[in-house]
Order: sequence, then C-alpha cells, then structure tokens
Amino acid sequence: MATPTIQDILKSAVHPLSNEDEKFLAAVYAFAEKAHSGQKRKSGEPYIIHSLSVALILAEIGMDERTIAAGLLHDVPEDTEVTLADIETAFGHEVAYLVDGITKLGKIKLRGSREEYFLENLRKMFMAMAQDIRVVIIKLADRLHNMRTLKHLPPEKRERIARETMDVFAPIANRLGIGEAKGELEDLCFMYLDPEHYAETKKIQDTYLHEGQAYLERIVTLFRKTLIKEKVSILDVSGRTKHLYRLYQKLKRHDMDISRIYDLVAIRIIVPEIADCYEALGLIHREYRPMVGRIKDYISLPKPNGYQSLHTTVFGPDGRILEVQIRTQKMHDEAEYGIAAHWMYSEKNGRSAWRRIFQKKQSDHIHTLPKELSWVKQLKEWQKEIGRDDAEFMEGLKIEFFKNHIFAFTPRGDIIDLPEEATPIDFAYAIHSEIGNRAVGSKADGKMVPLDYHIQNAQVIEILTVKEKKKPSRDWLGFVKTSGAKSHIRRELRNDEFKMD
Ligand code: MN
Repeated sequence: MATPTIQDILKSAVHPLSNEDEKFLAAVYAFAEKAHSGQKRKSGEPYIIHSLSVALILAEIGMDERTIAAGLLHDVPEDTEVTLADIETAFGHEVAYLVDGITKLGKIKLRGSREEYFLENLRKMFMAMAQDIRVVIIKLADRLHNMRTLKHLPPEKRERIARETMDVFAPIANRLGIGEAKGELEDLCFMYLDPEHYAETKKIQDTYLHEGQAYLERIVTLFRKTLIKEKVSILDVSGRTKHLYRLYQKLKRHDMDISRIYDLVAIRIIVPEIADCYEALGLIHREYRPMVGRIKDYISLPKPNGYQSLHTTVFGPDGRILEVQIRTQKMHDEAEYGIAAHWMYSEKNGRSAWRRIFQKKQSDHIHTLPKELSWVKQLKEWQKEIGRDDAEFMEGLKIEFFKNHIFAFTPRGDIIDLPEEATPIDFAYAIHSEIGNRAVGSKADGKMVPLDYHIQNAQVIEILTVKEKKKPSRDWLGFVKTSGAKSHIRRELRNDEFKMD
C-alpha cells in the first residue's frame, strides 16, 4: 500500500479546506509526527503512517478539518509522552475533545460472549461512550486501517480483531449508513475469519466475470455513450462488482449458483436531478431488455433507512445480466458515506458541482440540519429501536440517550446497565438477589474497592460472597442507587425482623 503524505490528505479532502485549514493541518501533522517519532508499527513502518492513513480515510469521506486533525492525533495521548492538555493548548478544545473521545473508546475492552443480546448492548455502549458521532467515525477509520494492515499481527490476534470488527464495527458502519466502510470491513473480516469460503467465493466471482474489470469498463463506456448521445445529463457512470462477503451470503441462499445472482455486476449512473433519473431509466430500458419484476423505485418509496435510488436489472451486452442503479449525487453521497455526507453538504464555500443542488436548504451549521437527510432519519429510527424518545437527542451531535448510564461487565463478560454512581451492591443485586445478600466485598478491574464505590464505565466488577446465608446491611440503604437493590434489601431486612419476633 502506498504511504500517504500530508499533501495527499490535503489533496483528497472532499470537504473544502481553506488556506488556513491547510496550514492548520500541516501544523497538526508536524506535531503528531514529532510526538510519534521513533515509534514503529508491527509492520516496521514509522507509526505516523497509521495516523496519516486514518486521516486520509477521513479526508476522503468528506470530514471537516478538525476531525481530520483528530485523526492525525488519535493515538498521541495513549502512546506518547505528549498529553491531551498539550493538544488542547496547541489546537484548541474541540480537537482535544475528539481525541479524548477516541482515547476513552480505546480503553473499552470488547470481550466475552457472542450472544446477540450481548453484541447489541456492546454496540450501544460503544456508541454511548463515544458521545460524539465524529468520534465513532474516527474510530471506524482507525479500525479500517488496522484491518487493512492486519496481516502484520500474529494469527491469534488477527482472529480476535477480525471477529470484533465483524460483530461490532461493521454493524456500526451500517447503522451510520457508511456503506463503503461496511463493505470493506466485512470483506477484510471474511478473509481472516473464513479463508476457505473467501477463496471459494472469490474464485466463483472471478470465473464468472472472466474478463473481469475489462468487461465492466466496456459496459461503462457503452452506457456513457448511449446516455450522452440522447442528451441525458449525467455526472458519473461507474461499474462495480459485489462485495465478496455479501456475495457469499447470497450464494449460500442460492445453492452457490452464481447464475441466480443478478446484482453481481452493477452499473451506477449519477445524474443531477430526480427527473434525470427517470429519463435515464427509460433510455436504458429502450436499449436493454429489463427483467420482469426487478424494477424498483426507491425514490418514490425509499427504503426504511432512507436509501433512495432507481434499480433495474437488464440483459446487457453479451446477454449478461446487470443491475443498474440510477440516483442523484445527493442520494449517492448519503448511500456511500451516510452520516459523514453531512459534512460535505454543510460547508461555506462548496467547490463541487452537486453542492448547488442542495444549497438552498442547507446552512453552515450543524444545529440546523435539513430534516430530510437520511442519516438523521436513520438515527431517529435507531433511537426508536432503543426505546427512548429524547427530542434533545438531535441537538448537536451528542449521543444523549445513554446519558446518566454506565455499563459494567461481570467477570464472564456480561454487561450490566446501571445508573451513574451505582455501587457494587447495585451491581450484585442486578445479577441476583442472593449475590446481593451474600456480598462481603468487591473488586473493580481486579482491585479491591469498598461496597459503596462508584462504578466507572466499562469496569469489570467482581462480587466476593460468603457461602453461608448472610443478611444485607442496613447501611447499604444509605448509598445504593437502584430501586431494585433498595427493595431487595428492605425485603430481606423485614423478613429477618419478622423471624426474630
Ligand atoms: Mn489507531
């Protein structure tokens, strides 16, 4: 893989950067480079290559200069002598706040069972602790680069990281609507977790697309010519093959018979306006026979996650079956970059052609998002799933729904959801009333702590118990936070008094 430079980042930034922003990023780079100087990754490369690669991903998906800066600095407080306070002094509060968020996320040990319930909680906890969507996006970019360079790690580590990525990070990328990142993460995980089926799927795909890339390129040129000849406005025509992991999932459902998969090759046509979408569709159908029942109008009827596009399946050149997707630039960016697309559409001096389409409704600031952005809808959906209805949630980018919650782990890796300032006694009663009744001591991350200790997010809590029946202490009522613990303690004490009478 080519080694990125700060120049590459400035050049690749989709989000427009002013001269000032460029100077700022060059300064951040010099700072990060100095902080990491002498450090090497497992690959033997200088550590800063990782920071640059993460920043490059962020620049390419259209994140703003502060998020890119935080990408360059993301491993500085954890891995170098330079502190968060130094970063704040040099580059201000917001950058420091983002870096702090990533450092905190890095401390969560994702571990334990693979049960659905556990994983869902883990994803929620991860999102809750990130506090800011940008932190999650930086973390995803970090993970994407780590997955791209996973081969340098020992095999048992590879497996653990790939599993965690498949179970936690790819679904988060999907939730945020970042289709591109999700597809790449899944394929990388697939390669490490199931190398045999990965190789088999790749072989099936290569064989079926024997000319592979050349065929795709030929069709793209043909489609482009046809559309231009008929004066349909187009911004881009491109071709792609299906991501391997998704292809494998589909093959399994179709007896591994690739001839039954119609979206193996997809041609994507990007046009300026919605009307152009329908015009292009009509033209494609005139040239290539559509397959019955495969025309889908997700513009009139968007998918539940807000996805919009026209899909059709046609018998293309050489009689090969192709899926054709037609959408506007805005629909496309939202599908590819999801939540990140927001930054592309929210800048003061846009330099892209498609910005014009959107300009009227869009203001500069984050707090005045146009309501129709699909990622906003997505987050609302997600919020509904979680079952809280905080209208404040969309203010700013704070993830509020788990405010005042902390999550602690049992030694087995189960997650216990507790209110802030909850104690080991709350934790014990949350597991089982008998564990609460018999509690005599507790450990947090392996260290002894008092029973009225305030549990911190993501700590592993161990409750020490005695076998013989023990009654709860009346003092506990003075510090427990959960109503569950309170009522158990009261009931137990009442029973006890009753027996003594
Ligand atoms: Mn990193």
